[in-house]
Amino acid sequence: MPIYTASGQKRASGTKEHCSADPQKLATIGCALGHQVRVRLTANEYALYTVKQTPQENPDNIVRMTDTGWSRLAAVSFPCNATVDSQVVHPTYTDAYAEANSEFVERLTDNGTHVGLVAIAPHGGKIEEGTDLQAERVASVLAAKGVSSWCCKGWKQGGDAYDRWHITSTDIHEASFPLLSKIINREFSYAVAFHGFSQNKILIGGGANLALKLEIQQAIQNAIVGSGISVEIATPKSPFDGDNPNNIVNRLANGNGIQIEQSKKARTNYWQQIADAVASVYNSKI
Ligand SMILES: [Zn+2]
Repeated sequence: MPIYTASGQKRASGTKEHCSADPQKLATIGCALGHQVRVRLTANEYALYTVKQTPQENPDNIVRMTDTGWSRLAAVSFPCNATVDSQVVHPTYTDAYAEANSEFVERLTDNGTHVGLVAIAPHGGKIEEGTDLQAERVASVLAAKGVSSWCCKGWKQGGDAYDRWHITSTDIHEASFPLLSKIINREFSYAVAFHGFSQNKILIGGGANLALKLEIQQAIQNAIVGSGISVEIATPKSPFDGDNPNNIVNRLANGNGIQIEQSKKARTNYWQQIADAVASVYNSKI
């Protein structure tokens, strides 16, 4: 099994999704700087982290996170006993079994050669609910053109799936997602990512040009007329602008990504209308 037993200790900097670990020790489980890992404290306390630093450690099994990072695992005293696991997505579970067992899976719809459009939802399941349905809907509506989709879906029974499974889009590493690795170098002409956030609107960002954002804004506005939900273009200073070249949606399409952040209401009541509107925009381009 790709796991090592770790001594959990504190780290001064980083976000709650970040950890550090010794590079040689990481290599023993096939991991390296920038990869995701699953850190487990007890049978029921585990979460995903991105390895953001790889200092030489002595002993070499030390894994470090900030207080808020450890709080995701309810860790209270340090050093603590943990395990570091290179398996991020569950390799075999169905969606139903993953949901029942509080697990995390990835899904790929792809014919192996399509280069027009990939629709993605890195935070599906209960992480950002409804978004995986939207990515899969776009691929389904445009199936005649062979459109691809890639989704991750995470669940946590009785708890916060976002806290356990969310990896920010600029950190997602294909080495940790075997199905993503199959398309990461495809160089799609277009990529669109569906996300959810807590603001009361829809925000369109990404590395793509303004003209495409305006087209998608107009299509979504037309599709949800009367909803009272505003559809806005993200400004470059917005934390949700999605224009970082490292954002997975931009990496999949040579920078030509569109990122759509949506309120809970938008994803609950209008997920299909929004997905169909987005599909209609790309249908004329691929
Ligand atoms: Zn998201």
